[in-house]
Amino acid sequence: MKIETYDGKEQKEIDCIGCAIESGNTNPMKGTIIKTKFFDVHQDFEVPIPGFIIVTSRRHFLSISDFTEEEQIEFITLISKIRKGMKDVLNIEEAYLFQNEDSRHHFHLWMFPRYDWMEKFGRKIESVRPILKYAKENLKTKENLILVEEAVLKMKKYM
Ligand SMILES: [Zn+2]
Repeated sequence: MKIETYDGKEQKEIDCIGCAIESGNTNPMKGTIIKTKFFDVHQDFEVPIPGFIIVTSRRHFLSISDFTEEEQIEFITLISKIRKGMKDVLNIEEAYLFQNEDSRHHFHLWMFPRYDWMEKFGRKIESVRPILKYAKENLKTKENLILVEEAVLKMKKYM
């Protein structure tokens, strides 16, 4: 399937984003926040919402039930720290965490920030799809892409 990067500059044919990251097939990797022993943390590739963070496993599997014990331990410490960073350096008071196993891509957790401008789309899970659509269609602006990059840099520094 073809994906377009959040800055609109690159289109790629990708089967599994997680495996593409791991194989180095997603150049340039400017959205990267941190790579740990078992996970890769980055700005969502397709959606230009500042602080919309994706945690992808470095191995190919679909479910949290496939975690090794080492992955389990690293994961909870990692996502707690990311969420704390989202609050402390990006001022994100509320976030949605979401992981779906029926994805084309391997294991990834969404850490989706709530901003005031999203209120017009409602709340909870049903608001997310229209927000993503709105962001892809309207937020690939120079001003907003700067905010996305700044959020990446702040989180990078925090982590
Ligand atoms: Zn994969």
